[in-house]
Amino acid sequence: MNFMPIYQKYLAWRDRHFPMGNILRHTQYVLVFKTTNYCWYRCPHCCECSGPNNPRTFIPVRTICSYLDQAHADPSFSNNVVFTGGEIMSAYRFGPADYVPTLLNHSLDLGIGTDIKTNAAWVRAGFGEGIFQDLHHVISSHKPYSLQISLSLDRYHKNALENNAAVISRLAKMPNTNAIVHVSGFNNHVDMFPALLERIKANGLKIDEVLCGSAGKILPRVGGRILLQYSKGTLFDGGRARDMEWAHHSEFPQFQFLTADGMSLIAFDSAGRVTLGENSGRKISTSFLMRKNFNVYLKNLYHIRADLVKATWREETRARLLDGWRFNER
Ligand code: SF4
Repeated sequence: MNFMPIYQKYLAWRDRHFPMGNILRHTQYVLVFKTTNYCWYRCPHCCECSGPNNPRTFIPVRTICSYLDQAHADPSFSNNVVFTGGEIMSAYRFGPADYVPTLLNHSLDLGIGTDIKTNAAWVRAGFGEGIFQDLHHVISSHKPYSLQISLSLDRYHKNALENNAAVISRLAKMPNTNAIVHVSGFNNHVDMFPALLERIKANGLKIDEVLCGSAGKILPRVGGRILLQYSKGTLFDGGRARDMEWAHHSEFPQFQFLTADGMSLIAFDSAGRVTLGENSGRKISTSFLMRKNFNVYLKNLYHIRADLVKATWREETRARLLDGWRFNER
């Protein structure tokens, strides 16, 4: 007997009633690597609960490079990767010293749009000069503006204004550092961006404005090199932010894994998990490791995505049955 028509009917029924798994299957994805959960800060709003007491472990370079290679060959990949933490630059203290430049070079050599998020607190540390030299080498040896450096500008990150201004000013003074610096803050801290521009000017740098892209965006440009982007976001009540009064409550954060551009975020962490969406809270996840005959192997990316789709269907079922969640009501 041919069961295929029945199976196809079942798939069509499942896609109709459990749409998030279907969306995940049919959207392009961005890879996020939360390389470590260690951070020398312990910000009160940290959605990853990162801090100085967390393990000083990193996702191995070969693991990340393997997933970048697999994604590069996959038409569903959006060609965008984010390297974050915890604080990724802590690799200069505890990890392999070439951790960050190896990842950035590998990603950019593949032509992947690359974003690295850092708290900029290393700017005056002894190893800070090594970071500037590595960033300069990576930026100047790849296509202009293919690397984005993302910084946080808010009152929860200690000395954020001073640290951001120092990082941007120093990079802008180095030759051939054509990079994008994305500064993000929260709605109630927007006054910090004009203050940042003033500090950069006080460091002797000229700021002009340039027209970027077909959307007609006008962006500040520092020292003729660094393009500045500013965005403000919403703080969700995941991780340590759950204790913050004004953090936005999200009823079903597990289903908020799409970016504004309609791409899904697939985030790897240093504990061996892959999670949909970047921030914490109740999330849909699976492991990227599998055990066989007492050995541990990496799942391939196809296997991980299939497991995430299955986990999404399970979570949709749970949310429908226990919480009365309905897709149309979102
Ligand atoms: S918000 Fe960023 S800087 Fe602050 S503890 Fe978390 S990872 Fe570290």
